[in-house]
Amino acid sequence: MVISQPMSAAAYHRPRSLREALSCMDQTPNARLIAGGTDLLVKQRKERPGVAAPLISLRSVSELRQIDIDGERLRIGSAVPLTDVAASPGLAERFPVLVDSIRVLGSRQIRNVATLGGNLCNASPAADTAPALLTLDATVELVGTDGTRELPLAEFLHGPGQTALMPGEILTAVILDPPPPGAGMAFLRKGRVKMDLAIVSLAVVLSMDGDVCVQARLAAGAVAPVPLRLDAAESILVGSQLDAATIQRAQAAAQAAIAPISDLRSSADYRRRLLGVYVKRGVSAAVHAAGGRS
Ligand SMILES: Cc1cc2nc3c(=O)[nH]c(=O)nc-3n(C[C@H](O)[C@H](O)[C@H](O)COP(=O)(O)OP(=O)(O)OC[C@H]3O[C@@H](n4cnc5c(N)ncnc54)[C@H](O)[C@@H]3O)c2cc1C
Repeated sequence: MVISQPMSAAAYHRPRSLREALSCMDQTPNARLIAGGTDLLVKQRKERPGVAAPLISLRSVSELRQIDIDGERLRIGSAVPLTDVAASPGLAERFPVLVDSIRVLGSRQIRNVATLGGNLCNASPAADTAPALLTLDATVELVGTDGTRELPLAEFLHGPGQTALMPGEILTAVILDPPPPGAGMAFLRKGRVKMDLAIVSLAVVLSMDGDVCVQARLAAGAVAPVPLRLDAAESILVGSQLDAATIQRAQAAAQAAIAPISDLRSSADYRRRLLGVYVKRGVSAAVHAAGGRS
């Protein structure tokens, strides 16, 4: 019989502003940040059952709950629930790859509380929004008591559960530049069952000039310690007519660039094969979305 242990009461702080949140972190160095809690609370129960660390909630920090246009750039507050990100006016038209990656994440209940910041800071190799954001060349904004810095997302993700966040820093926003004009986008993802993490995911953003591919960005999830851009496959596609031989070379380059593991969800071999299939399907879907032949 499994008896679930009740958690002991923990200090819970609910700052209302970024300044308050930073000062709270300064005064409570052993506290953990909590946004939606859909990763953190599961992890806490697994790692230290019955022991609850002090928590600093980001849910009422007004600066983190906004989506703004800053000049040409879109700034998505890190604590905006994923449902609200996906429903943000114009986002599905401009960044369909991001919205598609959110729509398959977890369940409606999860998406109603889970946040974009939490998905990135949890740093799972299978985080669904990460490949989409990598193909959009997203930047993350990090704020600590020493100031603000911006990093390309690729430099933020260091490994499973590891990021570039320094002690006392908060990921405040994800910043997107306008998408390449006329780009077609696609997001493909396979899980074992509904609500499970991805076995493989692939995001594609691609622009065509007639029959020739002029820009290609591909990023894969769950096939390496971090979600990653498939640079070699991109180079093969750019400047080409995307015939069968070119696609085959891009598939092989993508498969050579990854380091999948075998785990309870899939064998490494299956992940590698599936990524090859997804490169072909994803490129075709993105060309179609860009208004070309696929
Ligand atoms: C049933 C279930 C299904 C799921 N399915 C999926 C799925 O299909 N795909 C997927 O990608 N994920 C899935 N997840 C994982 C999870 O829902 C997502 O990763 C979610 O986006 C996490 O966001 P959150 O706001 O809940 O993060 P939290 O759990 O609040 O935080 C996660 C981590 O990030 C840190 N953190 C959060 N926000 C910040 C910030 N702004 N600055 C610094 N650190 C921060 C926290 O301290 C913690 O370490 C699932 C989870 C569950 C429980």
